[in-house]
Amino acid sequence: MEVHEGQSSQSSESPESSPSSESSESCSTDCTCAVSVHCRAHPCTCSYCKDYGEQAKKCRWRLNIRNYTKLQSTRKKRLDYLKLWRKVKNDGKLKVAPDYFSLAARKGIDTSSPHCPRQRVTLRELSYERNLLNGTTILNLKKSFGRCQIRADGLVPTLGDGCLGFFLPSVASYLTVDQLLCLSGLSPRKNKICYELANDQNNGDMEWMMGNTMTLPVVGPVLSVALGMLRP
Ligand SMILES: [Zn+2]
Ligand SMILES: [Zn+2]
Repeated sequence: MEVHEGQSSQSSESPESSPSSESSESCSTDCTCAVSVHCRAHPCTCSYCKDYGEQAKKCRWRLNIRNYTKLQSTRKKRLDYLKLWRKVKNDGKLKVAPDYFSLAARKGIDTSSPHCPRQRVTLRELSYERNLLNGTTILNLKKSFGRCQIRADGLVPTLGDGCLGFFLPSVASYLTVDQLLCLSGLSPRKNKICYELANDQNNGDMEWMMGNTMTLPVVGPVLSVALGMLRP
């Protein structure tokens, strides 16, 4: 189990909130989403959680995340990140780094989205090992924990199967279909018809399709390099 990371620069991910704003550690909503907590505001509807209630031990996504957090590499990442926070807060005994929701609340970001408990817990768990509030951080949150790709280098990890649910933690919202079309190289002015057609389709279908296609502005440079490598 591994969260696949892109070529993100770790150096840009130092903690960024000021030590003086430590007071609030809780989310502004009643959300208590955590690996072992069945949040009342965002209940998991999988058969295990539904049938066995709180702290369902067999819930698949919770198991995935638990396994990930037990990995040696994960523990090291969290410890390294925690050390940065200890310096920021000038507290050598700080036990755990502030999570995404508490940091977002301090910045006045509305984190009512996402609504899915798995996605909320994914954000919380990832925020113990890196700063998600960097403006360039993006991840495909609708993928399962082990398959979501996260980058913080200004690029979007679209080279996967589908562009499902690209989430920008710094503004707590998903990329829209129109934004994905822009990223695909289609101009909102010159390719207006594409935007009109896309808006008539199901958003999920469009996200899948755009993750598996390349537009001409992208295909052109790729092909020219490939053709240049061919021997006459
Ligand atoms: Zn919740
Ligand atoms: Zn569940």
